[in-house]
Amino acid sequence: MKNILKTLTELQDVDTQLAEIEAHKGNLPQQVENLEAVGAEVKERLKAAQAKVESDKKELKTLGTSKDEYKTKLTKYQDQLYLVTTNREYDALTNEIETVKSHIQDIVDQQGILTEEVGQLEEEMEALTARQTELQESLAKSQEELAAKTDLTNARQKELEALRDELAGKLSRRYLRKYERILQVRGQAVVPVKRRACGGCHKQISDQLLFEIKQGNRFIECEGCGRILVYPDNEDDISSN
Ligand SMILES: [Zn+2]
Repeated sequence: MKNILKTLTELQDVDTQLAEIEAHKGNLPQQVENLEAVGAEVKERLKAAQAKVESDKKELKTLGTSKDEYKTKLTKYQDQLYLVTTNREYDALTNEIETVKSHIQDIVDQQGILTEEVGQLEEEMEALTARQTELQESLAKSQEELAAKTDLTNARQKELEALRDELAGKLSRRYLRKYERILQVRGQAVVPVKRRACGGCHKQISDQLLFEIKQGNRFIECEGCGRILVYPDNEDDISSN
């Protein structure tokens, strides 16, 4: 019986390590995926900002041409003011000049808004480009790490699986099935006694039962959770509080 309990304890240790590997594996690809998603988002934002800057600059160019045309017109009208002979002509020309001036002012206002927007967009693009570089660096690093860890993890996993087969082969069907049933329900099937209680559910253990667990001659399941109780390697766990 002592050997069975020892094998079960070893089997539990292997299964715990395998579960940790699975949990660990599940997290890493997620990290890489997250970085890729953020990178794609930054790329999209950068593309949108670039397109807006281009269209703003195009519009600024059109506005500049338009302003030059109005300015030429204005000079022409102002020159004509000296040539008019009637009040009616003078008023009509003055009206034209005011209209042209107001067009020019509108253009100047629009140019101001667009120039400010271009400035803001260029600042944003600079920040996004920096973020993109940063993301690409950490993505490359994570991918590299993932590849290295996966290789290492796969090797370790194979090792553990072989060990598991070996340990399971030592156990009778009856004990193995019992172990696996508890493992499935509880996540952990074999637990050491801790501070005179079950290491799984913390149910107190009587002195008599504690003695029997220490003897290791009997298969003892916790009355609280059904896990297989074993005596810990480190006796301090029993006495300390
Ligand atoms: Zn328990």
